[in-house]
Amino acid sequence: MPLKLPVYLDNNATTPMDPRVLDEMLPFFVEKFGNAASRTHAYGWEAEEAVDIARESVAGLVGAHPQEIVFTSGATEAVNLAIKGTFEDYSVKGKHIITVATEHKAVLDTCRRIEKSGGRITYLSVGSNGLIDLAELENAIKPDTILIAVMYANNETGVIQPVSEISAIAKKHGILFFTDATQAVGKIAVDVHTDGIDLMAFSAHKFYGPKGIGALYVRKKNPAVTITAQIDGGGHERNMRSGTLNVPAIAGFGRACELCSDELAAEGKRLQKLRNYFENQLLELGDVEINGEDSPRLPHSTNISFHMIDGEKLIFETGNEIAFSRSSACTSATLEPSYVLKAMGVPDGLIHNSFRFSLGRFSTEEQVEHAVKIISKIVKEHRDERDYGHHKVL
Ligand SMILES: *Cc1c(COP(=O)(O)O)cnc(C)c1O
Repeated sequence: MPLKLPVYLDNNATTPMDPRVLDEMLPFFVEKFGNAASRTHAYGWEAEEAVDIARESVAGLVGAHPQEIVFTSGATEAVNLAIKGTFEDYSVKGKHIITVATEHKAVLDTCRRIEKSGGRITYLSVGSNGLIDLAELENAIKPDTILIAVMYANNETGVIQPVSEISAIAKKHGILFFTDATQAVGKIAVDVHTDGIDLMAFSAHKFYGPKGIGALYVRKKNPAVTITAQIDGGGHERNMRSGTLNVPAIAGFGRACELCSDELAAEGKRLQKLRNYFENQLLELGDVEINGEDSPRLPHSTNISFHMIDGEKLIFETGNEIAFSRSSACTSATLEPSYVLKAMGVPDGLIHNSFRFSLGRFSTEEQVEHAVKIISKIVKEHRDERDYGHHKVL
């Protein structure tokens, strides 16, 4: 380990837990350890009360009713429950689902599974701006379409899809609308009613809560959505997700939601200013592109392509100073270019030189200035080396 930890600019991967969240959780490990399903004694009542309070905070953050919140182990499980659960429950009506090429793997891999169980999936394309085409969406709707699954905001680019327009189209055709809002909840205002959402997945660890806890919002009225449970055993969470509730994590999840309800608006403005500063400084290097720049985007996140650098080397050279993420994944021996940027038409060579930087609650001005300094220096060095090499060849 380096003596000084690198500046953390990878908040879209996960966030550090807020100490106020930890304080909320601590009593529920040893002292208040009860099972929230124990109905016959104070230990159980105490745990149940904590879960009720947290459920209200979670629902409150997204404009839902507490009874519409189903606790899960995270967004991945919530996505699985939403897609597999509706597919099973509505398959008499049809077996067609519409989603998007740039969804998170949680959605794409679940859709692959549905295809293996006899479902049909349409994968919508996106433009170079990362947005879906609403006309293409409407054209994709068939009499047997049961679900439209479009993410709220993309984890790599931060691009925000036109959720209200999408939900209006779904409603018009009597189709359910599910959104993976894992990157949006806690960062921007999300409201299941104004946004017209029927099912929504989100996760505490993306907004300063603990890992291993998330929720699926399931609409109760207009329409009353039903899903088939994917985990059976005891009928917890109104029969939609069995298993003893993780009370400490749920208490922390609730506190994390409360903090976001209070601080989200001001924090969004602060981070947007910092993010814009970061982008503007790097744009001054020239031959730099911001992916999804002209689309609505999350305030704290950016995806940047640098021409004429060595992406591999840049990650290596910045590693002790900054923690961020590359838009290509190493799969065994090969470098797999990000399918999100690929869908936006970014050429493979440039995808290898593309990076995601995501700020968070604990990011400071000094940290961002430091990151700009380090990246600028290394990008310039790479370009000087190229020039030098070029002259040598001549
Ligand atoms: C992080 C993330 C997930 C997975 O969430 P977990 O709670 O870690 O399972 C799903 N979708 C998106 C868009 C994400 O960013």
